[in-house]
Amino acid sequence: MAEKKHPDPVPEGKVGVYVCHCGGNISDEVDVEKVCEQARKVPGVVVARANMFMCSDPGQELIIEDLQSGLVDRVVVASCSPSLHETTFRQALIRAGANPYVYEHANLREQVSWVHHGAEATEKATRLVAAAAAKAGMLEALEPIRVDVHRQAVVIGGGVAGLKTALELAERGLPVILVEKSPFLGGQVAQLDRLAPWGETAAGLISELAGAVLAHPAITVYPCAQVEGFEGYIGNFKLKVVQQPPAGTAYAHEVARLSHSGRGLGDFVPFVGVMPAPIPIGREEFDLDAGVIVLATGFRPYQPRPGEYGSQEFPEVVTLPEFIRLAAKAETGGDTLMLHGRPIRRLAMIHCVGSRQIPGIHEENAGGYLNEYCSRTCCSATLYAANLIRENYPQTRVFDFYRDIRTYGRGQEELYTQAAQNRVVFFRFDPGEEPQVSRNPDPKGHPVLVKVKDGLTFGEELEVPVDLVVLAVGQEPNTITDLVEKLKLPVGADRFLQEVHPKLRPVEVSVAGILLAGTCQAPFDVGETCAAAGAAAVKAATILTRGFVALDPFVAEVDLSRCTGTGACVAACLGEGALTMVAQMVEGQKVKRAQVNPALCLGCGACVAVCPENAINLQGWTLKQYEAMVDMIVSDAYLEGA
Ligand code: SF4
Ligand code: SF4
Repeated sequence: MAEKKHPDPVPEGKVGVYVCHCGGNISDEVDVEKVCEQARKVPGVVVARANMFMCSDPGQELIIEDLQSGLVDRVVVASCSPSLHETTFRQALIRAGANPYVYEHANLREQVSWVHHGAEATEKATRLVAAAAAKAGMLEALEPIRVDVHRQAVVIGGGVAGLKTALELAERGLPVILVEKSPFLGGQVAQLDRLAPWGETAAGLISELAGAVLAHPAITVYPCAQVEGFEGYIGNFKLKVVQQPPAGTAYAHEVARLSHSGRGLGDFVPFVGVMPAPIPIGREEFDLDAGVIVLATGFRPYQPRPGEYGSQEFPEVVTLPEFIRLAAKAETGGDTLMLHGRPIRRLAMIHCVGSRQIPGIHEENAGGYLNEYCSRTCCSATLYAANLIRENYPQTRVFDFYRDIRTYGRGQEELYTQAAQNRVVFFRFDPGEEPQVSRNPDPKGHPVLVKVKDGLTFGEELEVPVDLVVLAVGQEPNTITDLVEKLKLPVGADRFLQEVHPKLRPVEVSVAGILLAGTCQAPFDVGETCAAAGAAAVKAATILTRGFVALDPFVAEVDLSRCTGTGACVAACLGEGALTMVAQMVEGQKVKRAQVNPALCLGCGACVAVCPENAINLQGWTLKQYEAMVDMIVSDAYLEGA
């Protein structure tokens, strides 16, 4: 169990209040000077100051000077959301030589100026500041909870993100275990050919990454392996892993099955060199210890419903990944693209298939969901493929049906310009007016018709006969329901895993010690995936190399003089393993009493609410502190004229 030091009491508070204008964000609606004036009437407040940007160096200096001069010994900053800058101000306290937990934050931006106006905004701000000051006056110095870290990372997923993360960690001298559910390394990218926008080969990239991973002495790879059990906390995770060969078949059969994953349209074989040995002969179970876990579970291409744009209805309709595999094996030498001996003289490409779906317009997918997000990578990948076709097979005409072209990023807008120069013909459709794919009634013509109401010619209805239709399918998160449940992972409305904050903590999830790498988080291209994996590796390395982590001490604490051992708190506890009944000696008697494991406690307070004896409190958020805040919020004593 993690060690927890008992807090030293701080002398009764001399509270400093610092109110931020937020450059007008707050002060346009809230009379900041008036809030300061009224805060000075709150018992315990010795100074109240306003500043244009409290998070700036001069703003933080105000706090540091007042602490170092002894004028104040507790601090309230009233500014933006604590999720943005609470850490900034706690760090300022540390720089001043103070305990970072004698600090309270009031949110005057998201909770006041962005949602209220005029006198009411100033009154609400005053009440929130008074409540924060009342609590601050009762704060005690707390010590962070120190948890030792097992110096090893487990990376789940052996695609580009997992390989890159493992390699970056190993190159920093850290042991890594890589767990991959399939027999192969390389993930979805290993099933592609050339990569947009620069045209490097997927085989080259994967062979290099996988080769380096397999050769690195600090990395152990377990293919055909899945996480079946999970417990522990940051620094001390325990994973139960099951490794077994693909169900009921010889390994070679599984290779064959995967190599035909283009629904029988191709016989694409993943690159030699990405199949790590040895593959287990039978089922094996083992435990892994990890200080951090990196999730690199990746994406899967959207699978169109039967009949969607003629998918699975006409053999001439394929997805973009399927087309890339087919084209990689196309017969070379002629001016026309030849697939399976059939000339493709006219080829249609349709964007936004399974992406940017709109409620009420698009049909829900098999799981009852819509993909409302843009998959970001398919526009560039489609235009890259269109250019390759036009440049290699000038007699193959390409028709591009798009809703919007979103070729963002370095070197990608050029793909669009290049496609226009390559005489790719563009048609634009509106949502709800998607192109219709049908069989051409003329048996002598091209086999498939694409009908569209073309926005570029002011709604003209056109019929384009083609030999092949390519659907630019989007990215969906891989199905990892088991992992999500076991690890209690936060999932966004788009079903991708959710980071804590897109800018401040972009690779962390709300479960400490679990990090995200790559397309399990959002649609990314390969370059972005590598950057995200690098970020996850750096974050993991900072946790592992220090040897311990310091967690905020806002956890439950049992008062043994009050606890009678009812166990109500244990039944209500939301943190698995955070609270247990343990035999203890109290006043010479062996009795069962509640005991908190601070590393697992979520600080949610569910136990506090149910304890009939008021025997549990949250450090830094005690019932007495709450009562003081409520008293202040409802009091008018410090309002103007009162
Ligand atoms: Fe549509 Fe392009 Fe976004 Fe893909 S990247 S969803 S094709 S707009
Ligand atoms: Fe359990 Fe929440 Fe109480 Fe912690 S605060 S012991 S997680 S109920």
